[in-house]
Amino acid sequence: MKFENLDIIEPIMKALKDKGYSEPTPIQEKAIPHVLQRKDVLGCAQTGTGKTAAFSIPIIQLIHQKEKGSNDFPVLRSLIVTPTRELAIQIEENIEAYSKYTDIKHAVIFGGVKQGSQVAQLKRGVHILVATPGRLLDLIGQGFIKLDTIKLFVLDEADRMLDMGFINDIKKLIALLPEKRQSLFFSATMPSNIVKLSNTILNNPIKVEVTPASSTAETVNQSLYYTNRTSKNDLLLHIINEKNLDQVLVFSRTKHGADRIARNLKKKNINSASIHGDKAQNQRQKALQQFKEGKVKVLVATDIAARGIDIDKLKYVINFDVPNVPETYVHRIGRSGRAGEEGNAISICEPEENAHVKDIQKLIGRKIEVIEDNPFPQTEKPMTAAEKAEWNKEKQRKKQEFFANRNKNRAGGGGSRGKAKSPKNKDSRDKKDKRKGGPAKDKDESSKNKNRNRRRDDNKPKKEEEKPYGKKASGGKRTKNMPEGLKKKYKWALE
Ligand code: AMP
Repeated sequence: MKFENLDIIEPIMKALKDKGYSEPTPIQEKAIPHVLQRKDVLGCAQTGTGKTAAFSIPIIQLIHQKEKGSNDFPVLRSLIVTPTRELAIQIEENIEAYSKYTDIKHAVIFGGVKQGSQVAQLKRGVHILVATPGRLLDLIGQGFIKLDTIKLFVLDEADRMLDMGFINDIKKLIALLPEKRQSLFFSATMPSNIVKLSNTILNNPIKVEVTPASSTAETVNQSLYYTNRTSKNDLLLHIINEKNLDQVLVFSRTKHGADRIARNLKKKNINSASIHGDKAQNQRQKALQQFKEGKVKVLVATDIAARGIDIDKLKYVINFDVPNVPETYVHRIGRSGRAGEEGNAISICEPEENAHVKDIQKLIGRKIEVIEDNPFPQTEKPMTAAEKAEWNKEKQRKKQEFFANRNKNRAGGGGSRGKAKSPKNKDSRDKKDKRKGGPAKDKDESSKNKNRNRRRDDNKPKKEEEKPYGKKASGGKRTKNMPEGLKKKYKWALE
């Protein structure tokens, strides 16, 4: 099948040629004709399958055919809503590329940055708007955006949207859209809550499906190293050096963890950077750009920050931890091996994560190859139920102590938010607190997550969190209730 067979107009064909696309991917082949026929589409496809072009190309074509030759002020015709800033930026970059030989105007809006330039762009008029939910509702509230002219609505990565706690924002948006419209709904997985949501948005949709989440990775070679918690950094370094990796995306479950991993690698002269929700948008963009250009060798990212990262020909992804939600594993490894390229996903597994490997293998329906040639093999055992209960109790106690200390500090006139202050670092912290405009909080990501995570129980995906025992625990009364065996076993965390 060729793009010509999909009745794509000349200006877009020319742009596709510039991009070097010769044939449509399966999702494009299946979805584009239906979108051009103004049908609603329910697409089950994950990033990496070419789904962005599957909705962007026909949207550009439909608007171009309608507006061609008109000198009227651009009217907002299409709204594309996606969960993360990186994804929003990437979708707009795609639209820019495919529409470069048309007069289509487009813009992207997302939180975490000042709204001024986004508002200025909106005032100049756009046909297609790509947005994350928080900033979109914000600018609608301020009267800068009206949705009553929308003809084509796209909800992208719906499953991730719900994971990130955006359900109420989505409901608010749907209520603001004109009833008579065409809607496209994309999700990597289709559990019942997603199907239910799609029913409230779509009208008699055509269903198109490619590579269900559980079978990703057909093009990704997957391997696994079993190791101890304390050896992970050494093992990561060993893998990078042994395989001579010069571009690798490393996943970390926590934001602090991501910073730590990047810091450790830098100490070993490996050019690394981290991206996560506590970094300002421009820092994130800069790190991503440097990674794409090969200036940064290792990019360490949390799951949310990495969502939608699209790096052509990224060959290596390393999971510094094994995620407790199997679908997260599938999303992570899908960052490599995109659009049919060969990819490699390596996972580093500590004893507490052994059980997660089993769940992942069940989902993907195959065994992951275990690398035996490993200088840092796993010698420790996972915690028993009793040890885990003790661990959780201690963690809970530590949390309470942390908040009690923080409240004490605040009552004492400290006034700043964040960690309890130790006298040693007080000066530098005070300076930091006074600093104007620290890293912009990602409203789309972190504030939503905070609320969501508060409601989570232990079986749900875990919030990005610090390791249970911090430095201060060492030898002090915080560990007094811990059994000796546990103290010895988790000495690494107590030092
Ligand atoms: P997506 O699933 O939209 O994130 O796209 C994944 C990658 O596939 C991106 O790098 C696209 O530029 C690329 N891509 C999309 N469509 C095609 C195509 N027809 N031929 C080759 N590459 C494509």
